[in-house]
Amino acid sequence: MSPMPEPTHLPLVLTPPRGRAKPPRHLADLTLAERLEEATRLGLPGFRARQLSVHYFDRLVDDPEQMTDLPLAQRAELVTGFLPELMTPLRTLEADRGTTRKTLWRLFDGALVESVLMRYPDRATMCVSSQAGCGMACPFCATGQGGLQRNMSTAEIVEQVVAGARALARGEVPGGPGRVSNVVFMGMGEPLANYHAVVGAVRRLTSPAPDGLGMSARGVTVSTVGLVPRIRQLAAEGLPVTLALSLHAPDDELRNELVPINTRYSVAETVEAAWDYARTTKRRVSIEYAMMRGINDQAHRADLLADVLGSVGDPAPWGWVHVNLIPLNEVRGSKFTRSSDEDMDTFQRRLLERGISTTMRDTRGSDIDAACGQLAATEG
Ligand code: SAH
Repeated sequence: MSPMPEPTHLPLVLTPPRGRAKPPRHLADLTLAERLEEATRLGLPGFRARQLSVHYFDRLVDDPEQMTDLPLAQRAELVTGFLPELMTPLRTLEADRGTTRKTLWRLFDGALVESVLMRYPDRATMCVSSQAGCGMACPFCATGQGGLQRNMSTAEIVEQVVAGARALARGEVPGGPGRVSNVVFMGMGEPLANYHAVVGAVRRLTSPAPDGLGMSARGVTVSTVGLVPRIRQLAAEGLPVTLALSLHAPDDELRNELVPINTRYSVAETVEAAWDYARTTKRRVSIEYAMMRGINDQAHRADLLADVLGSVGDPAPWGWVHVNLIPLNEVRGSKFTRSSDEDMDTFQRRLLERGISTTMRDTRGSDIDAACGQLAATEG
């Protein structure tokens, strides 16, 4: 028997395939009780975990030198054990006079994700990623073109919000020191395809300090292509977060193309799950509808959308839903373009005439590719 042929090209570095190794475990992955247990397991007094939690979630401190209540001898061990570095900022781009900031992050394994901070006179919103890349393949979305690299951990998701909270607290964003009031899962990824990490992150964001950041669940929006079983599961969590459903078309034929998961869960099934979510949580559901010229912006589709959203009850209980029309953010090299102002106005008017609350989303950050659907996380 002849020996196996020698491989001609040996890899120079043997790196595990991306996605195998797990992100470092961080205190934001754990509940306060789990952090205390972990400290005990490491032979440290439990209250140290609480002190670290206060630094991270309450005081938003990231420099170990400022953690002067921790004994110097244990500080390094505590910080590496509980607050390992999760991500490094590679680039920050600003728009709207510094009130919109997009950050490109490099995760421990080289995966790239982006987050966007948007400050308004009355609120500050962090738009966060939940996956590196996305597997949903919506053809009009920049993130969808590169496929999924991996799920993010709870702490990687939370850290994006904490980074924004630090920038606001330290007065780095024009408008004086402030707080993050809203978090939207509208960055890269499909949050409900990374369900456990996302629910963990929502819990961490909404638990009172020092367990979490102490935000109101009402300020958190989870946006989804419509993974029906996961919408139903989320409704049962007892977390009153707002659900945003990326519908983009009222008919299966068109939605199968724009949001390919529709071939699995039809428009009717998806809208019904959203309606059940509204009934269970008493939270109004947002319907996202990106306006694409000549694709989904015809007047007859506005009427069909009204029919579909009204099909959940007789008479239609309009209070359950709010339609967010998003002028499409054009992605370089894409065949999809933004609808004309006139067509968008007509579309909105027809929904309003049917009694459906409908607004037009602003497109903050589009000039720095930071608006919805533009996050592609490329270097260079
Ligand atoms: N996967 C989730 C979150 C993604 S981004 C979801 O699909 O809901 C948040 C929103 O931006 C979604 O409604 C998405 O459809 C929308 N979006 C994607 N590409 C866009 C684009 N080019 N212009 C405007 N909105 C876009």
